[in-house]
Amino acid sequence: MNNVSIIGTGPAGLTAAIYTARAGLSPVIYTGLQHGGQLTTTTEIENFPGFANPIMGPKLMEEMTEQARRVGTSIVTSEVVRVDFKSSPHKLWLDTGAMVETKTVIIATGATAKTLGLPNEEKLMGRGLSTCATCDGFFYKNKKVMVAGGGDSAMEEALYLAKLCKEVIIVHRRNEFRASQIMLGRAQKNPKIRFLLPFTIKEATQNDHELTGVVLENSQTKETLTVELDGLFYAIGHKPNSEVFHPFLDTDANGYILVNNFTKTKIPGVFAAGDISDPVFRQAVTAAGMGCQAGMQAAKYLEDNHED
Ligand code: NAP
Repeated sequence: MNNVSIIGTGPAGLTAAIYTARAGLSPVIYTGLQHGGQLTTTTEIENFPGFANPIMGPKLMEEMTEQARRVGTSIVTSEVVRVDFKSSPHKLWLDTGAMVETKTVIIATGATAKTLGLPNEEKLMGRGLSTCATCDGFFYKNKKVMVAGGGDSAMEEALYLAKLCKEVIIVHRRNEFRASQIMLGRAQKNPKIRFLLPFTIKEATQNDHELTGVVLENSQTKETLTVELDGLFYAIGHKPNSEVFHPFLDTDANGYILVNNFTKTKIPGVFAAGDISDPVFRQAVTAAGMGCQAGMQAAKYLEDNHED
């Protein structure tokens, strides 16, 4: 039986692994489909403390994985497809069909930024296309960028980018906004931000290396419009990867797992850390911090409940 089973290998899961391994608990981490999480799809990272020079996202995750392994984490390349938290020990089923019993579980399955599903977007990610202005905005200093979306995230991303970029265009599919009046008002007042409404993105144009612009279609008149761009930021929402846990844990309306007292879920011995329970900050460094909290809370739970 595992002392600690960690689901997900982003900064939250790997930090939880480092802390529980160093506490002598021999954690087992299940990688899921995207080993390394969202950072594996970004390029240079400049806002994770400890690196004077930028580090590539995949490299950072490789280092974190190696660090977790070195201190005593077992890494299993498998997805957890079903859980049973009704009784203790908890049960996890892997995509191999194997069933695992575990005294504690740390859920760190993250969230996935929604994308439009354009055919070349995977190739352009980190090459003109991004889902995070805080992460990548710096690379578009004095450039012309577009933000897709009409919610608070789109306004926030556009306002952030307006501090760095020459021009920011918000493109939204409707004339009405989901964003709060205050956020929308701020964007509307910003002289660097202009709006293109109601338009949907039909195509992302590119050269051999990177994005060059978009082809838009007016949702009402169907007129098309080509816009040259240096960068395109999707801000059309995130989807927490919490489906597997829904029958047992409480989530908010958007599917984020609800926690109290830092990382505790409503089930004793089950903790959640990182983007899976954080709709607000969604940063690698905050996820790592929550992973540390979950690791320490799992260790305390084991100390209090399993003396063997
Ligand atoms: P959101 O409120 O769900 O807005 C997503 C936006 O993307 C909507 O305008 C939606 O258009 C658009 N969209 C979704 N799918 C699309 C598609 N396939 N094609 C084109 N457009 C698409 O998501 P969010 O902005 O990430 O916000 C999530 C939550 O976090 C909200 O509760 C928000 O208030 C909160 N938040 C708050 C702050 C803040 O207060 N500082 C900052 C960020 C986020 P439609 O409107 O047409 O559906």
